[in-house]
Amino acid sequence: MFLPTYVSVETRFIDLLDCEAVANAIDDNTACVFLEIITNPQLEVADLRMLASAAHQHNVPLVADTTIIPFTQFSASALGVDIEVLSSTKYISGGATSLGGLVIDYGHFPQLYRTLKFELLYNIGSYMTPQVAFMQTNGLETLDLRYRVQADNALELARRLRQVPEIKGVNHIGLTDNKFHQLATEQFGGTYGAMFTIDLEDKQRCFDFIDNLQLISRATNLFDSKSLAIHPASTIFGAFAGSQRRAMNVNDTTIRLSIGMESVDDLYNDVVQALTKH
Ligand SMILES: *Cc1c(COP(=O)(O)O)cnc(C)c1O
Repeated sequence: MFLPTYVSVETRFIDLLDCEAVANAIDDNTACVFLEIITNPQLEVADLRMLASAAHQHNVPLVADTTIIPFTQFSASALGVDIEVLSSTKYISGGATSLGGLVIDYGHFPQLYRTLKFELLYNIGSYMTPQVAFMQTNGLETLDLRYRVQADNALELARRLRQVPEIKGVNHIGLTDNKFHQLATEQFGGTYGAMFTIDLEDKQRCFDFIDNLQLISRATNLFDSKSLAIHPASTIFGAFAGSQRRAMNVNDTTIRLSIGMESVDDLYNDVVQALTKH
């Protein structure tokens, strides 16, 4: 069997918000510029047009993980993205029924299509099983509806949580004073995803909060139909040293919330009781 030679891949980590630094890091060997359209859990929004122009000046494809805002809402291709990759475990599966991933190749770089199709698919066999494909196609039928409810719920809940004194900060890109609000509005057509973060006083309060939740589930997943909460610093980023987490702006005081389709009143009441229970 032919195995591709990926033995030595050098990765350069560049600040997503610094388009000039991205352009400067590209050289003759660069295979692609890869990014998440919105970072998780910091919620920084990439300027896709600027980054695409930096990549394309060097004839390098822009590959974007678009998991956070579904493709029903905006056209990544129109913003200059050459290839979208996304976790279909999230919005598409809906009820967290199954794991999956999609690659959407707009065909701007034909040699990449060959690598994906003939090396990864034919030789390695990265296919969905029929049962997973069935569950995810089922989810796809209600994706747009579920997404709109979840995104609306998330924004409404974020607005209400700003008024809660135990919460020191609410980071939601749909809030008009958020630093990325304008860019997010231009790129994603007035929709802001169903994930946001809140900051509490300290780490212990974050743990107590998660322990006290009754409706919202403690889970690593995102964009389930049910609402989920996690403390990223001690879980997803738990293997990093404190100094590395600080460099990535992953803080001990932050809780990430993924909002589902429950009533906003119920979600709000659950958050408030979890914050105030002793
Ligand atoms: C969850 C997630 C992934 C990984 O997806 P899995 O389906 O868990 O393998 C990749 N990118 C983003 C932005 C995600 O949220």
